[in-house]
Amino acid sequence: MRATRAIIDLAALRHNLAQARAAAPATRIMAAIKANGYGHGLERIGHALSDADALGVACLAEAQRLREVGVTTPIVLLEGFFDADELPLIAQLGLETNLHHEPQLLALEQTEVAQPITVWVKVDTGMHRLGFAPEEVGLVVERLRRCRGDVRLRGFMTHLACADDLDDPLTPLQLERFAAATAGLPGERAIANSAGLLGWPAARVEWARPGIMLYGVSPFLGGRGEAEGLRPVMTLTSRLIARHTVARGEAIGYGATYRCAGPTLVGVVAVGYGDGYPRHAPSGTPVLVNGQRVPLIGRVSMDMITVDLSAQPEAMVGDPVILWGRGLPVEEVAEMAGTMAYELLCGVAPRVAVEETG
Ligand SMILES: *Cc1c(COP(=O)(O)O)cnc(C)c1O
Repeated sequence: MRATRAIIDLAALRHNLAQARAAAPATRIMAAIKANGYGHGLERIGHALSDADALGVACLAEAQRLREVGVTTPIVLLEGFFDADELPLIAQLGLETNLHHEPQLLALEQTEVAQPITVWVKVDTGMHRLGFAPEEVGLVVERLRRCRGDVRLRGFMTHLACADDLDDPLTPLQLERFAAATAGLPGERAIANSAGLLGWPAARVEWARPGIMLYGVSPFLGGRGEAEGLRPVMTLTSRLIARHTVARGEAIGYGATYRCAGPTLVGVVAVGYGDGYPRHAPSGTPVLVNGQRVPLIGRVSMDMITVDLSAQPEAMVGDPVILWGRGLPVEEVAEMAGTMAYELLCGVAPRVAVEETG
């Protein structure tokens, strides 16, 4: 059987949630588990994080799946709803929804749902993606109060654009704008993503919405989860499926991009971009064979990669390989491939078998 596997360490996940709580003991945790739990499995992560104060998802379909498998933790739709016809189900499932623009507000004003609807007002303090402008917030609150249906205002959210860089002046500006926009208005506040929670004490208000740190990854530029006391949740593993010596001057793989400077012991690993391993990982990207680092050489194929086993001449077909996770930070592989850990974790393909531990 093809050995490509994602091992999901639920003990590490719970440890990371405890680290998030420890960073801000008075702050409630709305765990971001959108995008299939950052690639770790929505239902699995939803169950494993049932101790979080709430779960944040991107859309109703994700929330519905969680409710269907028995997750009873409060769930917040971070992008709100896309059409007014989602409102009855949102109310029925007891979901909370973000409210970020006029069409959603109009839909709430024009729909009278049987059950109460709980909303968070999203404020755009400088990221300019979703949210009402700070000066609109007062009027939005007023209009929510006047809705005929039972609309309950839970609080206010904003999202930080540059919290991963601890020197970026946009974060203090966003915090200031949010404080001004919501001053005197009743409700709870939610500001910080993982970087905000770990790196910006002023962003630790009633709620935080950590995502990436829960999966063991540092939210900071150039950072490593281990340095933040986090443990990797996903370890992507496979095995060596071939080894052979290639003569000096010969090239390896598609495009013949890597040419052997001398006789080279080449190992072939059963993992490729068809599994979610980044196609842009260059020669030199580290791979663990038998727990030891060896460099990737040649292009990443759909089902395979090739590595230079010169440092490990005793390696045999069947030996274990780690692409990222325990012993090899996913942040490092992402940096080599010119992307970020978020994308690698979310991109693990459905054909990769998943194994739970912890
Ligand atoms: C995804 C998301 C988060 C979590 O961000 P991380 O960087 O993964 O901690 C927080 N808030 C919102 C609105 C999000 O969409």
